[in-house]
Amino acid sequence: MLQSKLFTKVERKFPKDEEAPNARLLERGGFVYKNSAGVYSYLPLGWRVIKKISEIIREEMDAIGGQEVLMSALHDKRYLKATNRWDVDVVFKVISGGEKEPSFNISWTHEEVIAEIARKYVNSYRDLPFAAYQIQTKFRHEPRAKSGLLRGREFLMKDLYSFHADEKDMYDYYGKVADAYRKVFERCGLKTYYTLAAGGDFTISNTHEFQVAAEVGEDTIFACDSCLYAENKEVSKLSAKGGDTNIKCPKCGAKVSEKKSIEVGNIFPLGTRYAEAFDLTFLDKEGNKKFVVMGSYGIGVSRLMAAAVEVYHDENGIAWPETIAPFKVHLLALGNVSAKDLYNDLQKRNVEVLYDDRNVSPGEKLVEADMIGLPFRAVVSEKTDEKVEVKRRTEDKVKLMNKNEFMKLMSND
Ligand code: ATP
Ligand code: MG
Repeated sequence: MLQSKLFTKVERKFPKDEEAPNARLLERGGFVYKNSAGVYSYLPLGWRVIKKISEIIREEMDAIGGQEVLMSALHDKRYLKATNRWDVDVVFKVISGGEKEPSFNISWTHEEVIAEIARKYVNSYRDLPFAAYQIQTKFRHEPRAKSGLLRGREFLMKDLYSFHADEKDMYDYYGKVADAYRKVFERCGLKTYYTLAAGGDFTISNTHEFQVAAEVGEDTIFACDSCLYAENKEVSKLSAKGGDTNIKCPKCGAKVSEKKSIEVGNIFPLGTRYAEAFDLTFLDKEGNKKFVVMGSYGIGVSRLMAAAVEVYHDENGIAWPETIAPFKVHLLALGNVSAKDLYNDLQKRNVEVLYDDRNVSPGEKLVEADMIGLPFRAVVSEKTDEKVEVKRRTEDKVKLMNKNEFMKLMSND
């Protein structure tokens, strides 16, 4: 893409009203626009990141048999009434014209909606198991929306729901989802700890979270860097021992340390609670009527983008992991030269390139390239002659390459 055509611009200054690095960097770089506290619009650069993350998630969900759907976002109140969740404090309720009382809410989660849908199609054990997922906007009236995209009032979530004849089958699938989640986060460049946690709103004893270590995180975990197991401080018996000096990992015996962290994913065994509320039953092999056992699995898609920024930035801007970067390379033409041919060649080879063809000073181009944070920067100027000066965002050294070498580097991996 030509940067001269990009309708957003990198701001000269950080936004005044943001503290969290993810919000400061994403807003300044023109990745997102803040509409209200905790409410963001995704602009071209930010949306490209979200699409990259979503594609990785889709591939891994499809690989474990997930079937993609898109459920309604406007829910009649009978759904949450059925499970006594209508009065959960984060639920946004909707009053439509002429009404005094709300009769709908906007989606904060979809266990009820999918349980009712499943009831239509599940009759016998032969209809089980299956799993369905979506990537959709969720709305939650979070009391404190101060961590930028880490805690939105409107945010993007991938939610997967699975349906089983018994608990054993559900737990088998739960393990597969955990493996798929590990792959998702790894592919997005994030190291996650598989964390024992409480049930949140769902009053289930054991759930698991995927936590990324970061200072701005709202959670505290006891994390093992050897096997990546962790326990959330809220539920951990390890915390009773205090400090971080002598705690041993209950899984592998290595040293455990206390860290602030961001929950990027959460998986829940649901049991039959939702099946009971929506009369979701099936006939087993012997002809007995039973409730379907469900699991529910979430990834914060927009939170994941923000977590990546928290982990991958320096004083000059973002440094995107290559798999989720909006473009692979930032091509800069400095001074009185054009890199149009190079740009066309890159495009021909399907290399994702942002070409800064604007008529602005070299200094400005270089500073903005660091802010946007693409994995590679390629400079063409009067000094580079027929060559290209290539630099990785995360390294200081620059390499002068001829065009063939450069093309090869760009088309690899
Ligand atoms: P948290 O503990 O952070 O409040 P939660 O446990 O209520 O989150 P879930 O209902 O399990 O969240 O949602 C699944 C995933 O969606 C979470 O793991 C998180 O990554 C993301 N998520 C939850 N709430 C928000 C939010 N307000 N803004 C952005 N992402 C969120
Ligand atoms: Mg949670």
